[in-house]
Amino acid sequence: MASTRTLESLSERDKKYLWHPFTQMKDWAAEDVLMIEKGEGVWLIDTDGKRYLDGVSSLWCNVHGHRVAEIDQAVKDQLDRVAHTTFLGLSHPLAVELAEKLVHITPEPLTRVFYSDSGSEAVEIALKIAYQYWQQKGQKKKQKFIRLSDAYHGDTIGSVSVGGIALFHDIYRPLLFEALEAPSPHPYRWRGTDNPEKVCHQALERAEAIMKCRANEVAAFVMEPLVQGAAGMIVHPEGYLKKIRELTKRYDILLILDEVATGFGRTGSLFATEQEQVNPDILVLAKGLTGGYLPLAATLTSEALYEGFLGKYEELKTFFHGHTYTANPLACAAAVANLEIFEKKDILNTLPEKIDLIRKRLSELRDQAWVGDIRQKGLMVGIELVEDKKQKQGVPLHLKAGHRVTLKAREKGAIIRPLGNVIVLMPPLGMTQQELNQLMSVTIESINEVGKALTEKSNL
Ligand code: PLP
Repeated sequence: MASTRTLESLSERDKKYLWHPFTQMKDWAAEDVLMIEKGEGVWLIDTDGKRYLDGVSSLWCNVHGHRVAEIDQAVKDQLDRVAHTTFLGLSHPLAVELAEKLVHITPEPLTRVFYSDSGSEAVEIALKIAYQYWQQKGQKKKQKFIRLSDAYHGDTIGSVSVGGIALFHDIYRPLLFEALEAPSPHPYRWRGTDNPEKVCHQALERAEAIMKCRANEVAAFVMEPLVQGAAGMIVHPEGYLKKIRELTKRYDILLILDEVATGFGRTGSLFATEQEQVNPDILVLAKGLTGGYLPLAATLTSEALYEGFLGKYEELKTFFHGHTYTANPLACAAAVANLEIFEKKDILNTLPEKIDLIRKRLSELRDQAWVGDIRQKGLMVGIELVEDKKQKQGVPLHLKAGHRVTLKAREKGAIIRPLGNVIVLMPPLGMTQQELNQLMSVTIESINEVGKALTEKSNL
């Protein structure tokens, strides 16, 4: 165990040398740095030995917990064989095994797997494949994408181009390609009604209007199925996804479903798309693919799309994309072991009780003045904090309500991370009922303490 002096200097050295993602470093420099040294099941342990429940699955990727014996062993076994070899011009057994499994568990029309390193890259690949497919098919005008408002599909230039979160994306607009925006069917923030059926109907009318008049220019419609995660856990009304599939077929537009966040059991089914029996043309997976162990992503396509890239070498129909660590064998080993756990332990059948427990506990927040909306789909939860519940007015940004709740939860032994004023929970699938109850208690107490203090304008 490191001495206190070393730990202090670790924190200082962090502040001296590092630049953290999605972080205002001026604030970071003023706060204590939480150094996580170990994981054990769904617990994270800091350098002082304090334990925290991993309430957001280490940014939505951990599935069965940390240091899972089967995944640890699979990675160690692969390490004894080889850590990395290139996938450009070579293949390896676990990449094949994993691809076979993915084709087997995803919707039927998806037959081909293209690997990459992150959700953002897997989205880039989906966009490039859709674009190139139409170019090679001779439909040269089909160059645009339709996205939802508030969409988040990653932080690289292509994935930001199909993003719609002003806070993250506006500054980059001049660098981006144009995307057409269909309104997100978000009942809480819809103008004129909050009835989910009406919102669904109106949102679909507006999406169809775009498709109808721009179909010959549109390559693909890109969306997250059922839940827009980074948008603040916006849960779509039932039927929206299915109808979008019908419309995209009718107007000859490809459907790209981004299951980077919703995939691997988070919504209660292995993939969200199953819940409305929708078959996309392209499916994007990342985060939970390796059980939250190593960076690996996959873009799956239909055979028809794949065949659009076949031709003589000199025709240059090749998909020119691939990175140094594409299909890294250690990551593939973790992913295969992760999927085997789903099968062997019948993980999906353990979820309904957990989802129910979360629902029941969330109802304790419903009447609080500082809670505007509570959204849940499976294990994905968003609790939106407001200053004025009637007017649905958010807490002003400078009060950092979400961040304050996070700090309170940390004191009480749980790691959560907000999206602005939305408190997000996304526990690992492997969290027990007892641990979930504890996570819910910490979250509810933290929200109420911060909410009360902000309302009374007292010191926190
Ligand atoms: N797509 C969705 C829906 C996401 O939620 C995210 C990340 O949160 C991404 C893409 C980007 O994934 P990554 O952070 O692995 O690049």
